[in-house]
Amino acid sequence: MKDLAADRERRKAAHLYRRRRIAGGPQGVERTVDGAPVLAFCSNDYLGLAGHPQLVWALQRGAESYGAGSGAAHLVTGHTPAHHALEEELAELVQRPRALLFSTGYMANLGAVAALAGRGDAVLEDRLNHASLLDAGLLSGARLIRYRHADAEDLARRLARPRDGQRLVLSDGVFSMDGDLAPLPELAAAARSAGAWLMVDDAHGLGVLGARGRGSLEHFGLGLEDVPVLMGTLGKAFGTFGAFVAGSDDLVDFLIQTARTYIYSTAPPPALAEATRAALRLVQGEPWRRQHLEALVARFRRGAGELGLPLGRSTTPIQPLVLGSAERALAWQQALEVRGILISAIRPPTVPKGAARLRITFSAAHTEAQVDRLLGALEAAGAELGAAAPGTDDDA
Ligand code: PMP
Repeated sequence: MKDLAADRERRKAAHLYRRRRIAGGPQGVERTVDGAPVLAFCSNDYLGLAGHPQLVWALQRGAESYGAGSGAAHLVTGHTPAHHALEEELAELVQRPRALLFSTGYMANLGAVAALAGRGDAVLEDRLNHASLLDAGLLSGARLIRYRHADAEDLARRLARPRDGQRLVLSDGVFSMDGDLAPLPELAAAARSAGAWLMVDDAHGLGVLGARGRGSLEHFGLGLEDVPVLMGTLGKAFGTFGAFVAGSDDLVDFLIQTARTYIYSTAPPPALAEATRAALRLVQGEPWRRQHLEALVARFRRGAGELGLPLGRSTTPIQPLVLGSAERALAWQQALEVRGILISAIRPPTVPKGAARLRITFSAAHTEAQVDRLLGALEAAGAELGAAAPGTDDDA
C-alpha cells in the first residue's frame, strides 16, 4: 500500500501541498476567502458574466421549465430543446456547421481525442498543453509526441518523419498558465501540409479574443480547413459550465457515435444550457466587455513595466508573474493576501519546476482603480520580499 501520510509530508516539505480555500459571496471580483474580504485576480470569469443577473434569471427559468437535472445521457432522454438550441447557437458563434455539448472541457478533450486517434496513430502535442489534452493523448493509446512550446518548425520536423496511421496535432489556443497565443496559422500550415488534423482547445480565447468574441481562430482569421476540430469551454468567459466541440457535420456525427465521455455521461442540466444561451447573447451583444478587458490588461502591463516586474509576452487577460520556487510563489501570494488581494500561487506540476508563479487574470468586472490597487500591492510585496525576478531555487 502507498504510504499516504508520508506523501503528504513530502508535499508539505516541498511547499507543494495543495489546500482548498472556501470562497464566499456571489460571483464577482470582490469575494471572501475563508471569511475575509478579498479583491480577486485569479478567476477565469473573463467577461464578468458568472454572476450576471441575466444568467441567473435564465438558470431559474430553465429550472422551472426543465427541473434541476437532465435525468439521462444525451442519447437516452437527456437531450432537450435547450441543449439543442445552445448547440446551434454555439455553432453559429464559431461559424461551423455543428457543435456538440460535453459536460466539461476535460471530458470534451478526452472524448474527442480518444475518438479521433488510437493505437497505431500519433498525437502531437505542445509541451505546455493543458493537462486534459495531455491526458487525452495518453488515453487515446496513440503514440504521444511532444513538440517544443509554440514551435511550428519543431512540429513540422516531427510531422516530416514518415509514419503509418493518422496524425492529430493538439494545441491550446491561449496557453492557460502563460497567456501566450499558439502560432495557429503556422501550426495549421504544418498540419495541413503533412495531411494531419489540428485540434485547438480555445478554453481561454473563446469570448475574449476577436472582435466578435469568436476566439483565437477569429483573431488569426482561420477557418474549418485550418482547424478541423475546435474545443471551447463554457466555464470561463461564458460564466457557466460545460464545453463543446465544433466542426463539420461529419465530425459531430462521428463524435456522437464514438466519443465515450459523451455517450456514457449524463447530459448537463438543461437549465444550465439556458444560462449559457443568455451568456452567449451577452458575449455577442456587449463587445464593450472585451474592449474594457483589453484596456485593463494594457494598463496593468504599463504599470507593471514601470515597477520592473518581469512579465511575459502575453497580451491576453492571463498575465503570469513567474517567481521561481513554490516557496517564493506562496510568499508572494501571502504578501498580497494580507493586502486584501487574492491571487493563487500556481506550482508544479501544473507549471514546470522552477516556474512557480502568480497567475494574474483580469475580468471585465474589474475597474481601473482596482488594477491600480493591484499594482500598489505588487509594489509593496516586492519591497517586502525582494525583486520579482525568477530566482534559482531548491525546487528549480
Ligand atoms: N482546457 C484548458 C486549456 C483549460 O484551461 C481547462 C480548465 N482549466 C480545460 C481545458 C478544462 O475545462 P473544464 O474546466 O470545463 O473541465
